[in-house]
Amino acid sequence: MVDIRRYEGFAEIPIERYDGLLIDLDDTLYRYEPCHRTGIDAAFSARDLGLDASSFARRYREARDAVTARLEGQGACRSRLFAFQAMAETLGLDHGYDIALELDHAYWNAFLGAMSVDVEARDLLIRCQRHDLPVAVVTDMTAEVQIRKLRQLGLINLVDYIVTSEETGREKPHPSMFEAALRKLNIRAGRAVMVGDHLIKDIEGAASIGISGALVVLKEVVA
Ligand SMILES: [Mg+2]
Repeated sequence: MVDIRRYEGFAEIPIERYDGLLIDLDDTLYRYEPCHRTGIDAAFSARDLGLDASSFARRYREARDAVTARLEGQGACRSRLFAFQAMAETLGLDHGYDIALELDHAYWNAFLGAMSVDVEARDLLIRCQRHDLPVAVVTDMTAEVQIRKLRQLGLINLVDYIVTSEETGREKPHPSMFEAALRKLNIRAGRAVMVGDHLIKDIEGAASIGISGALVVLKEVVA
C-alpha cells in the first residue's frame, strides 16, 4: 500500500520498512537558492556584457524561461549553458556560445563552492548504508552537474545510483524517472520510498507507480 507522509525531519523516516530509497537532490540534500545567487553573481563578474547586475539577472531569467519553455520536460531545459547562450545571442554579442561557456563555468564553479550538505539528510543516507538499503538519487537536471554536486556534497559513497531527466528524457513527476530508479535498485515499487521536498514532482510522481513517499522540507537556516 502506498504510504505518503510529511515528516518534520529526515530522522523520522522509517527506512527499515523498505528495500530501497529514492531521494531528490536539489532542496533536499542541500539548499539551492543561496548557491544559485552566488552562481549568478559569479557569472555577472566573469565578463562585462555592458549590463548592470539587475539587468543581467533579469536578462538571465528571461533567457532561462525561454529555454525552459522550448525544451519543457527534458533535462536540457535546465541548462544554464543554453540560457547564457540565448542571453548572449539576444544581446547581439559576437561568439555568444563562447561567452556562454565562460559564464556557465563561472556559474557552476561558484555554485558548487557555495554548497553545503544538509547534515540530517546525510545522516539518513548513512542510516540506509547501515541497513544495506540501496539509494538512488532521482533528479531533474543534466547529469554532469548533478554528479558534480554529489561529489561536492561528499555523498558519492552513500549514493549507489543516479537517475537524471537528461538520462530519461522526461522530468519528474513523469513515471519514467521512478521506473528507471526501481530498475537500477532492482526492487519493486511497493518496497520503495521516495524522499523529497516537492509534493507533486517527488511524492505524487512516485506514488503514481506505487512508491511510498516521505515529504521533508528543509528547515529555514537562521543566519
Ligand atoms: Mg527538490
